[in-house]
This record gives sequence, structure tokens and C-alpha cells, in this order.
Amino acid sequence: MEWIKWKRGGRWVDNDEGYHYAYCHACCRKTEHDLRSCIECDNRAIRRRQRAARKQVRTLNVGDYTVKVYPNGKKYCSCKGFQFRKTCKHVGMVA
Ligand SMILES: [Zn+2]
Ligand SMILES: [Zn+2]
Repeated sequence: MEWIKWKRGGRWVDNDEGYHYAYCHACCRKTEHDLRSCIECDNRAIRRRQRAARKQVRTLNVGDYTVKVYPNGKKYCSCKGFQFRKTCKHVGMVA
């Protein structure tokens, strides 16, 4: 196993937390791995999850009405007041 070296106290030493270089078939090259998986693949998966979460429209129930929160921050409420004024107390109640 090819361990990733860390600088500790001014000297390069093998780390003792399981970080090592290994060939990743998803990355098609040698990448840094922890004991479980490829760190670059992990990072990609995290970024993908974050992007997916940002794209989602959230639907929240406020009393009898439904407030939709769009990824760009726009909010829409199903109540009559919102249709007339483009704002209402419900959209103010959701984060
Ligand atoms: Zn990878
Ligand atoms: Zn409303």
C-alpha cells in the first residue's frame, strides 16, 4: 500500500489514519483514498447531492395554504391574497 505522507513536526511521515493512493476506476487514475473509498469520488458525490438539493422546489404547508419555495429564492403561495398582492403573510412565515 502506498501511503500518503504528511508533514508532521517538519518531517514527512506516513499518516496513520488510513489515507493512501490507489487506482480509482471511476476517476481512471490514482487518487487519494481513505479506508473506505476514493476521496475525489466522495467529493463529487457530495457536490452532486448539494446541487440536487438546490434545484429542488420545496413545498411547505402553512395553515390551509401551500407555499412553494423555488431554488432561485422565489416563493409562491396558493392563497387569494398572494394572487392579488404577490406577497402574503404565509410566504413570510417560511424560511
Ligand atoms: Zn475516484
Ligand atoms: Zn398566502
